[in-house]
Amino acid sequence: MRVTEPAANALQRPLIDGFGRRITYLRVSVTDRCDLRCRYCMSEAMSFLPRSAILSLEEIAEITAAFIARGVRRIRLTGGEPLVRRGVPDLARMIGRHIETGALDELTLTTNGTRLTETADALFAAGVRRINVSMDSRDPDRFRHITRWGDIAKVLDGIAAAKAAGLRVKINMVALKGLNEDEIEPMLRWCAAEGHDLTLIETMPLGMIDEDRTDRYLPLDQVRRDLETRWTLSPLPDRTGGPARYFRVAELDAKIGFITPLTENFCAGCNRVRLTVEGKLYMCLGQEDRVDLRAALREGGRGALDAAIDRAMAAKPLRHNFEIDRAKPAVQRHMSVTGG
Ligand code: SAM
Ligand code: SF4
Repeated sequence: MRVTEPAANALQRPLIDGFGRRITYLRVSVTDRCDLRCRYCMSEAMSFLPRSAILSLEEIAEITAAFIARGVRRIRLTGGEPLVRRGVPDLARMIGRHIETGALDELTLTTNGTRLTETADALFAAGVRRINVSMDSRDPDRFRHITRWGDIAKVLDGIAAAKAAGLRVKINMVALKGLNEDEIEPMLRWCAAEGHDLTLIETMPLGMIDEDRTDRYLPLDQVRRDLETRWTLSPLPDRTGGPARYFRVAELDAKIGFITPLTENFCAGCNRVRLTVEGKLYMCLGQEDRVDLRAALREGGRGALDAAIDRAMAAKPLRHNFEIDRAKPAVQRHMSVTGG
């Protein structure tokens, strides 16, 4: 079908929400499934979407292309565990083509690292240059406890494979009171020695789990103040439009980030939206507002998809309302569904 001139313009209109924020970052959950069950993320008995409900990899590529045409410059593949879905390196290749044309700045991935030994080279070949690997402990028993059945050796091998493939690695560590707080400083030293950046994350009230998150909540402003008694932390200007703030640790020549959705709110500069594997676009991690892009794409093609994206922009909420001490999660969706 030939696209007429005004329609072609509509397909390239920049994405600006109702509060004047420009959307340039899309996070895509390519599966809600996972090979681990981190205690703060999932309950042990999770039910996952039937395969018939999920977008095909080609549909995901088509939706990401629509966002890129409208000014999205960064895409992150996540989940669930993105690397448990077969064909994700092929999807990375389809999206990575937009880096070659200059339409996309960066394609990244967040993973638990268990399957990196098999996939790191293919990800690099697809155009991925940086990945985040989640690792809340380097102690084998603790790692197994936090993830319920994970094997830290596999993750460490995966990280080594990623490094060997040429991927820059950032370690994500959720700070958990009484579980891994004593490992924050050793993790920082290890990351510095290995050449990885480290980002600490506050546990967020997303989805029902088997435990009470309040018991494990560790405010990161407190962690930062504690680190500052021993190390010189100077703020870095790096901004991603997200809730992360970065610091250089002078003595270790290391970089540390703090993701603090609870202790500090940075929604005013939010530049991102999130696509679930069912094709729902969530405009905020912590709100229910969403638009069904799968229905738009399947029923009306590219024109309907773009109209749905416009509706989403108009409906993006101002901010989340996370509070850790509410009895119930802020939203029922797990982070693994919306794409953390
Ligand atoms: N499975 C991959 C992984 O673990 O990296 C990607 C998806 S996971 C949902 C993305 C990130 O979200 C991980 O760093 C994980 O630790 C974090 N996460 C999951 N649930 C969370 C929660 N309730 N609060 C804070 N961070 C969470
Ligand atoms: Fe899986 Fe990542 Fe959630 Fe852990 S944090 S259960 S690895 S999706």
